Amino acid sequence: MYYEHYDQVPQASWRWKHFAPREIASKGDGSILIDEEALDKLEYVRELMGQPLIILSAYRDPLHNAKVGGAPLSQHKFGKAFDIRIAGLDKWRLLKCCQRAGFTGFGYYRTFLHVDTGKPRTWGKIWNS
Ligand SMILES: [Zn+2]
Repeated sequence: MYYEHYDQVPQASWRWKHFAPREIASKGDGSILIDEEALDKLEYVRELMGQPLIILSAYRDPLHNAKVGGAPLSQHKFGKAFDIRIAGLDKWRLLKCCQRAGFTGFGYYRTFLHVDTGKPRTWGKIWNS
């Protein structure tokens, strides 16, 4: 489901209680593409972790994705990817929880973990501390 602005998302259709449409919407134009399967997994990760997650980037409109140097076919453009800040979290536990929740793509960054529901793959150097 796509909305030109996250304010347009009907409350009744939003079932991911630990997240708000604003957190999932594009930081570019405020639009939002809702991928229910990916959001179900994110919500499950949140439940497994038992603590708040800070989402640095979720859906990205095409222009914003290009601006931040995202891959042309980035899963962020399909609402299937989330960058989760790792500060304040046990990042290894976060990774385990994301695997358990069924995420299949993992990108390891110094300050965040990228997860998505695309083709199984990993990139970046897994944290060495
Ligand atoms: Zn990402």
